Amino acid sequence: SKALDLETIRKDFPILDQLVNGHPLVYLDNAATTQKPKAVMDALSKYYSNDNSNVHRGAHELSDRATQAFEDARVVVQKFLNAEASEEIIWTRGTTESINLVAQTFGLANVKAGNNVIISAMEHHSNIVPWQMLCERTGAELRVIPVNDQGELQFDEFLKLLDAETALVSVVHVSNALGSINPVKEIIDAAHQQNAKVLIDGAQAVAHWAVDVQALDCDFYAFSGHKLFGPTGIGVLYGKKALLDAMPPYQFGGEMIEQVSFSGTTFNKLPYKYEAGTPNIAGAIGLAAAIKYLEALDRSALAAHEDALLEHAKKRAAEIPEIQLVGTAEKKASVLSFLIKGAHPHDVGTLLDQQGVAVRTGHHCAMPIMDQYCIPGTVRASFTFYNTIEEVDALFDAINKVKMFLL
Ligand code: PMP
Repeated sequence: SKALDLETIRKDFPILDQLVNGHPLVYLDNAATTQKPKAVMDALSKYYSNDNSNVHRGAHELSDRATQAFEDARVVVQKFLNAEASEEIIWTRGTTESINLVAQTFGLANVKAGNNVIISAMEHHSNIVPWQMLCERTGAELRVIPVNDQGELQFDEFLKLLDAETALVSVVHVSNALGSINPVKEIIDAAHQQNAKVLIDGAQAVAHWAVDVQALDCDFYAFSGHKLFGPTGIGVLYGKKALLDAMPPYQFGGEMIEQVSFSGTTFNKLPYKYEAGTPNIAGAIGLAAAIKYLEALDRSALAAHEDALLEHAKKRAAEIPEIQLVGTAEKKASVLSFLIKGAHPHDVGTLLDQQGVAVRTGHHCAMPIMDQYCIPGTVRASFTFYNTIEEVDALFDAINKVKMFLL
């Protein structure tokens, strides 16, 4: 963390410098969405000011520039994930659409009655409901890997659920509700031994460390731009080329076709086969700017700083007997989910907001894991590299005031 120039970094994020309810903003809701560096806003402004045009179809200069920037952005993401080829990078609206895409293409083509799909008990609703619907439609079985009281996925139980009928395993890399980091490499290797494919929901992982899809050997990897310091409305589905080639298309329309006539239609090659309609061109360009910004920093120093923030938060939490942590996995990203005994999470959130501290409260779109703990939700502080130790202290100072008010 010594290597980080936090003062300069924070200036790159102009939104951080403001008062909220009369207090300096302490933004600790990074798992919901991250703030955007100036580099991203500048890239969007430059694109709309100079190059705005539709892609892949114009015979004019602006369209060429837009197409070039859009395809360059795809290569930026390819390198970011260390994918083998840029056509393995499909633009989507976000993690949710990436998962739905796989459910509706790979899923409908490959998952049949008698098969099973395995998820875990700590999934976000976007990695539960698409599989639940697919299983209802196909007659396949949805199996759920249990999670222990610490919020750790039970790998031995996973091995018991996995069998020759497992078509797909879809698990979260880092839990948004608890912060737990899952052993995805081990999951992928075990699944492959049974010829099952694996999708990793990377929505909460990519902002914290470099992900290498070839080293993981995952079949699909999904993430959202807005949780990676980029714009909303843009996301990524990585898929292995052979799988993407074999799967049926997702949506139908312009861009994804090769030849259309009333006697039939043939489909475009990858990646366009999965990108019907005018894409979020600016979003892709903005996401590439975010990745370039991030990669210009020392990512291991950023990760070390985030770990230090989490350790400090855990230490401060341990000093307050009324705080009950939810999710105490040994391997954990910089997410602190907790309850204050005797206080409703929403009331805690409101009182923190009055002191300028932004956290998320509720079930975090992960109702099943909340049910397991028999709680309606938690208060969640999620840290990223632009947060400071002083901000962690501000959170706990504010919590002490909340306690005086509520308890
Ligand atoms: N999975 C996880 C683990 C998430 O944290 C989120 C966002 N909270 C999603 C999926 C869904 O992402 P999006 O809403 O950007 O599609």
